[in-house]
Amino acid sequence: MRLAELRRTVCELHAELVRYRLVAWTAGNVSARVPGSDRFVIKPSGISYDDLTPESIVVCDLDGTLVEGELAPSSDTAAHAYVYRHRPDVGGVVHTHSTYATAWAARGEPVPCVLTAMADEFGGEIPVGPFALIGDDSIGRGIVSTLDGHRSPAVLMRNHGVFTIGSDARAAVKAAVMCEDVARTVHIARAGGEPVPIPPADIDRLYERYQNVYGQRR
Ligand SMILES: [Zn+2]
Repeated sequence: MRLAELRRTVCELHAELVRYRLVAWTAGNVSARVPGSDRFVIKPSGISYDDLTPESIVVCDLDGTLVEGELAPSSDTAAHAYVYRHRPDVGGVVHTHSTYATAWAARGEPVPCVLTAMADEFGGEIPVGPFALIGDDSIGRGIVSTLDGHRSPAVLMRNHGVFTIGSDARAAVKAAVMCEDVARTVHIARAGGEPVPIPPADIDRLYERYQNVYGQRR
C-alpha cells in the first residue's frame, strides 16, 4: 500500500471513532504501520476529527520521532511506537477513552467473558494493564506485557482507557468498537445480577470457529 493511500485510510478510520461514539473532543487516535518499512502513520496532536485530512496524518519512525509531516504527532505516539517495535505482527493500533470500557479501567477490573461475541472476538476476558503515566515507555510496556498472556486484541489501561491492536488499522478499530460494545453490555448485565460465565472449553471453540471459519472466504 502506498503511503498516500495509507494516510487516507487512517484519516477515514478516525471518522469511525466518532461514528461509534468512542471519542470526545480529540482524545483518541489511530495509527498504521507502513508495510515493509520501519515507519508508521498516526494522527497529529490536538487536531479535531473534522479537520483531519490525509495530508495532516504524520509519519514517524519506530522510535516515535516525526519524519514527515507539518504537525506534531499525537501525544500517544510513544505508546504506539513501543507496540510496533515489540510486536512485528501488529499493523495497526488504536487508543480511545470510550465510556464503558474506560469505566472498567477506572475500577481496574477486566471485562469477564460472559458473551459469545466476546469469546469470538477476544478469546476470553478483556484484561487490565498497569497504571502508567504518559511521557516515557511505560504505557507501551504495559500494553505489550499485558497482551502477551491473552488472545484479546484489547487492553484496558488502568485509570486511563483502551488500547487495541490488529493486523492492520481497520482491525484495530474494529477491536475498539467491539470492546466498547461488550463492555457496555456486560456492565448492563451486571446491573441486573451476576452474569453467567462461559466454560473455557466453549470459549476456545467459539474463538477458533470465529477466527478461522466465520465470514467470507477469499
Ligand atoms: Zn489516553
